[in-house]
Amino acid sequence: NETIAGYDAELAQAMADEARRQEDHVELIASENYASPRVMEAQGSVLTNKYAEGYPGKRYYGGCEYVDVAEKLAIDRLKQLFGANYANVQPHSGSQANQAVYLALLNPGDTILGMSLAHGGHLTHGAKVNVSGKLFNAVQYGVNENGLVDYDEVERLAVEHKPKMIVAGFSAYSQVMDWARFRAIADKVGAYLFVDMAHVAGLIAAGVYPNPLPHAHVVTSTTHKTLRGPRGGIIVAKDAGEEIEKKLQSIVFPGIQGGPLMHVIAAKAVAFKEALEPSFKEYQAQVVKNAKAMAKTFIERGYKIVSGGTENHLMLVDLIGREVTGKDAEEALGRAHITVNKNAVPNDPRKPFVTSGLRVGTPAITTRGYKEADTVELTQWICDVLDAPADEAVIAKVRDKVTAQCKKFPVYG
Ligand code: PLP
Repeated sequence: NETIAGYDAELAQAMADEARRQEDHVELIASENYASPRVMEAQGSVLTNKYAEGYPGKRYYGGCEYVDVAEKLAIDRLKQLFGANYANVQPHSGSQANQAVYLALLNPGDTILGMSLAHGGHLTHGAKVNVSGKLFNAVQYGVNENGLVDYDEVERLAVEHKPKMIVAGFSAYSQVMDWARFRAIADKVGAYLFVDMAHVAGLIAAGVYPNPLPHAHVVTSTTHKTLRGPRGGIIVAKDAGEEIEKKLQSIVFPGIQGGPLMHVIAAKAVAFKEALEPSFKEYQAQVVKNAKAMAKTFIERGYKIVSGGTENHLMLVDLIGREVTGKDAEEALGRAHITVNKNAVPNDPRKPFVTSGLRVGTPAITTRGYKEADTVELTQWICDVLDAPADEAVIAKVRDKVTAQCKKFPVYG
C-alpha cells in the first residue's frame, strides 16, 4: 500500500493521534504555531528529492533550474518582508542560523555578550551547555528586579569585557527590546550587533514590533514561530556590507551545511508570501491584543507576570513563593488539555527541570481565531487550575470547557 496508514499502522496511529491532539488541546507554547495547508503541501512535495548544493545560479548539481526559482522567490519575498538587502534561506534551523553567524564573524575564544538562558535568552546565545558557550568566551547579561533588560548594565559589561559580538534577542522576554540602544553599546566597544529575532519575527514583519534590521549588523530568525512557516532558519541583513555578506554565504554552504532542504525552502517561500498579505498584519495585531488580555487576566487573578505585562506575544507567569511549581503547573494544565511549558523565571530558586514559572503565548490560539473574550475565558480556566493544581474535579471541568472551545475553533477544519 502506498499510504502510511496502509503500510505502517504504528506510525500512522501516532500521526493521527498528534493531529487529534492539535485539534482538541489548546496550544499556548509561545514558540509554536500552525503552518497553513499550503506550507505543508510544499514540505510534502517532490522538492524533497533534489540536491542543490550551492546557491541559485551557482549549484554543484544539475537539474536545479526549478528549485532555483523556488529559492529566488523565498529570498526576494524575505527581503521585502523585513526591508533586507541580504537574505539566506538555507539554514536548517534557528540554531544553525546562529551558529553560522558566530562562525562567519568570530574566531574560537572570542568574547560574546548575550542574554542568559535563565533570564530569557536562548541556549545559542552563550549558554555553557551549547556550542556558543563552549567555543566562545560567553559573558551573559540578564534582567533587573523589575524583569527588564538593564541597558546600563549591558553597557557596563560591554565596556568591561570588550566583546567582539553583542547578541540581542530572546525566547522569554515580554517587552520591547531597544535595538538602537544595543547598537550604540556595540559601536562604543567596536562589537558586531547580532539580533536573533526568532520569537518576534512575525510581529516585526507585520509592523507591530520594532524592526532590528536598521540597527543590527546581522539578524537571524526561525521561520516556524510567530512567522508561521515551516520549521527552519534564515539570516537577513540590511547594511552588512559585501564582506560580511560573503562570509555569511560561504559559512552556511559549504561551511556548516551541505544540501539545502529545497522542500522547506519552497515552504518558506509560501509562508513569506502569506506574511506579505494584509491579513497577516491583522493576525499579528490580534496576537498582541490577545496576549495583553491574557496578562491582564492573570494579574487580576493575583498572578504575577514578569516585567508586569507584555508588549508582544508571550509572557512569563511567576510562581515564586507559591506551592505549585512550574513542573506541577505544566502537568496539571496538560491534564486539562492546555499545553504550556514550565520556564525558569529570573532568580528562580528551583532547578531548571522544576522551575517556578510558566511561559505562555498567543500565536497558536490566534491562528485558530481566538479574540480577546475567548482568551480571557481561557485564562480564567488556567487560573482555576493553578489555584487548585491537585483538584482533579476542577481539572476535569476545565478540560470539558477547553474541549468545547477547541471545537469552536478548528485548526485545519
Ligand atoms: N533563537 C531563539 C530566540 C529561539 O527561541 C529558538 C528556539 O526556541 C532558537 C533560536 C532555535 O531555533 P531551532 O529550534 O529552530 O534551532
